[in-house]
Amino acid sequence: QVTDTLTKEGLNSPSYDWFQTDSSVTIVIYTKQKDISLDSVIVDHQGDSFRAETIIKDYSYLVHIALSHEVEEDFSVRVVENVGKIEIILKKKEHTSWKCLGLPLERHNLLTPKKDAGLYYRKCQLVSKEDVTHDTKLFCLMLPPCTHLQVPIGQHVYLKVTITGTEIVKPYTPVSYSLLSEFQKPVPPNNKYIYFLIKIYPAGLLTPKLDHLQIGDFVSVSGPEGNFKKSKLQELEDLFLVAAGTGFTPMVKILNYALSNVLSLRKLKLMFFNKTEDDIIWRSQLEKLACKDKRFDVEYILSAPTSEWNGKQGQISPALLSEFLKRSVENSRVLLCICGPTPFTEQGIELLHDLCFSKEEIYSFTA
Ligand code: FAD
Ligand code: NAD
Repeated sequence: QVTDTLTKEGLNSPSYDWFQTDSSVTIVIYTKQKDISLDSVIVDHQGDSFRAETIIKDYSYLVHIALSHEVEEDFSVRVVENVGKIEIILKKKEHTSWKCLGLPLERHNLLTPKKDAGLYYRKCQLVSKEDVTHDTKLFCLMLPPCTHLQVPIGQHVYLKVTITGTEIVKPYTPVSYSLLSEFQKPVPPNNKYIYFLIKIYPAGLLTPKLDHLQIGDFVSVSGPEGNFKKSKLQELEDLFLVAAGTGFTPMVKILNYALSNVLSLRKLKLMFFNKTEDDIIWRSQLEKLACKDKRFDVEYILSAPTSEWNGKQGQISPALLSEFLKRSVENSRVLLCICGPTPFTEQGIELLHDLCFSKEEIYSFTA
């Protein structure tokens, strides 16, 4: 743990302060970093316990306090990006003057390497569950009112459910509500819903349990993990997404974000591997998007098609990849993202290296 010196990476230790008015208490976190946004901070407060975890590069900085007075459930979070300042504005229940903010709780005011910080879970309520394919559903979970959490693009969270006394934890990648939404307008700061596309395996350990949840039931959701950074998408000219089955999930927000925000983008292609036509997630949305945005193309490759299928067939192969991965212009700035079952991803990475894509041009989503 590092308290108030420079970390190995030259990261200046963050600090915090607070001030009050008659009706509010503002906690200010000085991250001393410029690339800070609303998804850099996760706030949970329950009863008098206030917890704000700020993710700064590979570190977690925690403000963790038993507040000295009561506050309302809802609060607001503001980020001043150019100075790396985060403000969390709490509403006092009573308009009295606070002499102190409260008492420090575990790991308060410490900067810890993220890998040692552990995951913090909050209980989220199932709001809806819709069929997407014969075995995949769109789950919508609602964050508690006293939580601020936005999962960055390309990152996942863990869902935790207790089954006959044992806690089962597995990773899932949040998606947008649809392919045609979200990044066209700024995400509202009070964004309280998290969506997941989850395939139900009848013989699986966790997914049948998720399938049997009733609307109103609770599931514990961790903070985000993963090292994809949306800055990888900046200045890109070609973006190739290679997905198999639910390996499509990290591609959803990437696709939405790139089409809406990466002005240099000329071509975005999705190569989507599935067993059968019935397994293709959001096929009609993908096709609508391809009609709407000429930069976007989708190609399906089926490993177990019916005899009626006249599209591409087979598994990931040098021939399929080299045909698909045509740059819009020679030496374009390119990124390839790949995700699916582990053998698929491993084979894909090897084939991409053989096709002379560099390490920096490939991003693989793995466990
Ligand atoms: P498991 O019990 O793990 O079983 C899965 C399948 O394997 C079943 O068909 C089961 O019958 C079979 N199986 C289990 N054990 C054996 C065995 N010993 N031999 C042969 N077969 C066996 N999934 C999604 O649907 N959506 C997502 O957004 C998503 N995001 C992910 C993000 C990350 C970073 C990772 C690593 C995985 C993600 N996954 C996602 C997969 C998810 O974490 C689970 O692995 C998946 O839901 C299966 O969980 P389960 O407990 O139901 O099945
Ligand atoms: P699936 O069994 O329906 O297979 C989809 C396609 O993957 C197949 O049609 C085939 O083309 C290819 N494939 C499957 N097994 C292969 C193998 N052994 N070798 C080469 N290609 C193969 O897929 P599913 O049930 O939807 O599973 C999706 C996988 O993606 C899961 O393993 C899940 O854990 C993983 N996933 C990972 C992340 C992540 O971020 N790391 C996110 C979401 C999903």
